[in-house]
Amino acid sequence: MARPVVIAGNWKMNGTIPETESLIGALLNGLPTGGSCEVVVCPPFPSLVAARAAIGSGAIRLGAQDCSEHESGAYTGEVSTAMLLTVPVSHVIIGHSERRTLFQETDDRVNLKVKRALGAGLTPIVCIGETESEREANATEAVLERQIRVGLADLDGDELARLVVAYEPVWAIGTGKTATPEMAQEAHAFVRKQLDSLHPGVGDRIPILYGGSVKADNAAGLLSERDIDGALVGGASLKPADFLAIIAAGSGTLQGA
Ligand code: PEP
Repeated sequence: MARPVVIAGNWKMNGTIPETESLIGALLNGLPTGGSCEVVVCPPFPSLVAARAAIGSGAIRLGAQDCSEHESGAYTGEVSTAMLLTVPVSHVIIGHSERRTLFQETDDRVNLKVKRALGAGLTPIVCIGETESEREANATEAVLERQIRVGLADLDGDELARLVVAYEPVWAIGTGKTATPEMAQEAHAFVRKQLDSLHPGVGDRIPILYGGSVKADNAAGLLSERDIDGALVGGASLKPADFLAIIAAGSGTLQGA
């Protein structure tokens, strides 16, 4: 089964409203016509409404960087899926390593957020990946297996098929160190096998993005691998020329066909 190629930009804590409007304008101007990949941008919460207006009918999907696992109530600082739907956004990043390491987000909490997002009709981009010390201790597969088993627990086949998963080795995020295409492919193939073990056949349907210092000059090599269905891009997604080059690398490829 063919999987869509998804190029998603995680702006992290960057992008005031004016910056958001100008970045989205530059992206819309430079998008390849007839490009076959799905482009998603994920600005910070206060810029989402401006981003939605700037996109208009353009071919960019909008995502949030997180959502609450709760429906509503006394959770100061949190943002609910109902709020995101009023923007509206279509995607939400869940379990990014910065949330896991800086804000103590656990696999159980990731699981609650994934369920909440799916229940709202959003597409979760679920991030998983090992730290440098876990890789050095040969624990990469054990970590990925646990993050998938616990983070995606109790989802049926239809729900699993609505996910996007991002494999992001933590040691490669924002560091300039990238997994080689071969290393990334090996991890992606393992992730796909684990997804399939949750519900037979679903592994082939879920786009698995690579994230970790993806740049204009390494995107094509990574995206040429069989199980790499796109990219989750941090730093380079803030530079229109670089993000557009990554989009160009993702356009015209169709994985798993
Ligand atoms: C990310 O934040 O998900 C990411 C991959 O960042 P960077 O591309 O900057 O490594």
